[in-house]
Amino acid sequence: MLAESEAQIVKTGLSWAHLDIMDGHFVPNLTFGPHTLACLKKHHPSLFYDVHLMLDNPEKFAGEFIKAGANLVSIHIETNLDHAAELEKIRSLGAKSGIVINPETPVETLLPALPHSDLVLVMTVHPGYGGQPFRREMLAKIETLAKWREADGLEYLIEVDGGIDLTTGPLCVKAGADVIVTGTSFFGSEDKNHFVRQFI
Ligand code: ZN
Repeated sequence: MLAESEAQIVKTGLSWAHLDIMDGHFVPNLTFGPHTLACLKKHHPSLFYDVHLMLDNPEKFAGEFIKAGANLVSIHIETNLDHAAELEKIRSLGAKSGIVINPETPVETLLPALPHSDLVLVMTVHPGYGGQPFRREMLAKIETLAKWREADGLEYLIEVDGGIDLTTGPLCVKAGADVIVTGTSFFGSEDKNHFVRQFI
């Protein structure tokens, strides 16, 4: 199933795969571990593997996912740890570092982590399950992050995840998003090539 999803991504000419890693604690759902990532990487080594850790203890697993082939590892700002130190550790292990923020968390909480982040992932739904409606009030968060990036001379990419389709995707891009994650709407579309072309 996963390998099939991956093949569909490759067929459309896309080069970036976003993987949600869940532990059943931070979010009430379970997905897969580093071993599965290593298998995926073996099939399609040229994809950029963007690993979103929805875990209580991301610091325990970041290194293993990097060893398994993650190109970018994102951790949540809502986790209880030294985010700056963890983001720098991810960089020192050879991956790009990402920080993730849930819809209800104020954007200001990200400030100390931003200089240590190669990417900021704005959750536009509460994480854990696919198919939820997009929260429009998140557009202001994207705009703020784009403004701060410019004002502070930072270079993080802004990524959005949750409820993204052909209506909400362009709104996020207009607000300043660089990377768009589509799950349900991509995999549910009949003509995936056509779906992707409409974003480009
Ligand atoms: Zn995600």
